[in-house]
Amino acid sequence: VVGLALGVDVGGTKMLGCVLDPARPEAVLLEHRVDTPLGSEALIVELVELVVALGRGAEERGLGAPGSVGSVGIGLPALVDHDSILRFAVHLPGVTDLAVGRLVADRVGLPVTVDNDANCAVVAEVAAGAAAGRREVLLITLGTGIGGGIVTGGRLLRGARGFAGEPGHMTVQRDGVLCQCGRRGCWECYASGRGLGHLARVAAAEGRAPEVRDRAGSVEGIRGEHVVDAATDGDPGAMAVMEEFGGWVAVGLVNLANMLDPEIIVLGGGLVDAGELLLDPVRRSYETLTLGGDHRDPPPVEPALLGSRAGAIGAALVGAERR
Ligand SMILES: [Zn+2]
Repeated sequence: VVGLALGVDVGGTKMLGCVLDPARPEAVLLEHRVDTPLGSEALIVELVELVVALGRGAEERGLGAPGSVGSVGIGLPALVDHDSILRFAVHLPGVTDLAVGRLVADRVGLPVTVDNDANCAVVAEVAAGAAAGRREVLLITLGTGIGGGIVTGGRLLRGARGFAGEPGHMTVQRDGVLCQCGRRGCWECYASGRGLGHLARVAAAEGRAPEVRDRAGSVEGIRGEHVVDAATDGDPGAMAVMEEFGGWVAVGLVNLANMLDPEIIVLGGGLVDAGELLLDPVRRSYETLTLGGDHRDPPPVEPALLGSRAGAIGAALVGAERR
């Protein structure tokens, strides 16, 4: 008997838990969102509470047989090894070398598997999203930072230690902007939500984006959403920043496509909510930069279909597969 699967996606500010039947991953039966707490101990406590609450909710609503949640999967924005140990997380300050899988499993009494959040998202998009049925898939999440998940030969590429697929920290500009990871010139310094804010602050300081500066109140106060809002209203300065931003996104996508030759590139994460405002400039630069572009069709770049639920759905599937 295959039980229900419970998945949790841990983000930098929020975590989303869901319960589903692994045979029908597109139909989430139950979900709950809570804030991501600060620090290792609080993270484990909050994860346990969320898992217990969702498990109890599934029982009370009579979803499947009583006590029918049979596995837990957790996606973390982190380097996670094959033993479900979080090794390092740029966006979870102070949380390192934490045996998340074992600590949660001990307290909830269910098998728990932990993986990288973008790995979970690509599993979900292949199972029931934009890459349904594909075997060679690259998924990139554009949020506060950048995440990556790679499926090749129909299987998730995890690497020797579980750390494969961290494209956000590919160096694209030697001696470039200082990244939160402590190094310089990482792709996510230019092509994430934080990167968009950086490009817009530079543009505003040079007088190229006055409307964006006015909306933010000051050059220093500009964040990615100010650019997206102003560009949505047709502001030329903001649209020029989006064009520049699309070019930075495309540089990384082309580097990765040259390496992996995927059937499809799926773009997920919060920035994709900007729709064509983001996708148009990305596709324009991407097609220009493609190697041998006159002699091949570059892999299509498509938005993720499962939206902010992809990580939690994929975590549930990863947990169900590994139990
Ligand atoms: Zn970095």
